[in-house]
Amino acid sequence: MSLHPETKAIRLQTEKTSQKEHATPLFLTSSFTYDSAEDMAAAFADDTLDVNIYSRFSNPNVDEFIDKIAALEGAEAGIATGTGMAAIFSTFMTFLSKGDHIISASAIFGSTHTILTKYLPKWGIGSSYFDMNRPDTIESLIRPETKMIYLETPSNPGLDIIDIEFVAGISRKYNILFVVDNCFATPAAQQPIRLGADLVLHSATKFIDGQGRMMGGAVVGKKDLVKQLYLFIRNTGPSLSPFNAWALSKSLETLFVRMEKHSSNALFIAEQLLSHPKVSMVKYPFLNTHPQYDIAIKQMSNGGGVVTFEIKGGIDSGRKFLNALQILSMTSNLGDSRTIASHPASTTHSKLTDEERASVGITPGLIRISVGLEHRDDILNDITQALDKC
Ligand SMILES: *Cc1c(COP(=O)(O)O)cnc(C)c1O
Repeated sequence: MSLHPETKAIRLQTEKTSQKEHATPLFLTSSFTYDSAEDMAAAFADDTLDVNIYSRFSNPNVDEFIDKIAALEGAEAGIATGTGMAAIFSTFMTFLSKGDHIISASAIFGSTHTILTKYLPKWGIGSSYFDMNRPDTIESLIRPETKMIYLETPSNPGLDIIDIEFVAGISRKYNILFVVDNCFATPAAQQPIRLGADLVLHSATKFIDGQGRMMGGAVVGKKDLVKQLYLFIRNTGPSLSPFNAWALSKSLETLFVRMEKHSSNALFIAEQLLSHPKVSMVKYPFLNTHPQYDIAIKQMSNGGGVVTFEIKGGIDSGRKFLNALQILSMTSNLGDSRTIASHPASTTHSKLTDEERASVGITPGLIRISVGLEHRDDILNDITQALDKC
């Protein structure tokens, strides 16, 4: 029977033992045994994902988790990693070699930016950035040695939206690998593979876990690409732990209902803040004032769980706002059932100049709210009482 993604997220259970347990058991084992020397030799001779040998290579819990992510993204196959950064770094290391060049959107996750500017040059890999609002400039940056186009949409923390289908057209024309970080939307709202991306990667630490408990990552795409990634990860070791995979697979069962609630709460907060006198700008993909609203509604089925707004009074007001909060958490994670507020200019991006911050979409009074699953009125009341004190 063909199943909807919501059902697959719940019913795609690949592992069961002779106990016929209902929930997937936890396979905490470092390695797997064989009935004969011949079977063991055959397992080692075969470097596919099919036979379990050692949990750095594959594990039943890790397989179940990644099979679900691949199914939800509409991908042929996938590989799980210990963190989102491990997924990103493994992708760069597998598909880029000395002398190659990567084109990336300017608004990307801070650690990804650090890999591109501090580490890839050590191996002779160059990068160019395109303004996230001008994907039409990508073509002018392509060189003979360009091997990858990379972007994040919506971006963290600026919530910029890039037209995935448009960029996929360029990558196909020049035969360049196209990689999308789909962490903010999750496959519940956006499936970049269906829009032409070659590889989609995730930090499972955020909305996929959804409860602020654990790290994880994933990359999905065509079988031949995933096979290359698998061999890199199997040998270099940024693998996902079976325990985290077990919990993350269970988390996926509630991903769709959680994302619906995150996004309806977020849209409500965004709409309410539009008219607040202390707020000069509100950004949310599904607000029709968002500069790329038309693209957002074309490629996403909901606006996701993150809202940003600009508080009048810049850096000082940003700090005052955080200090006045009574319920919202002041922490750097996002995608939690608990609503989280952060102020990038005084924290994650405090070492950049105003111009550098502006180039990645961060203004002095920018507040990022990862809207949780609490009652929407309680979230709004805490934000408005804190704004009143700024
Ligand atoms: C958090 C995040 C990452 C990194 O993931 P980790 O699990 O923290 O390693 C990558 N991309 C985006 C968009 C993120 O928000």
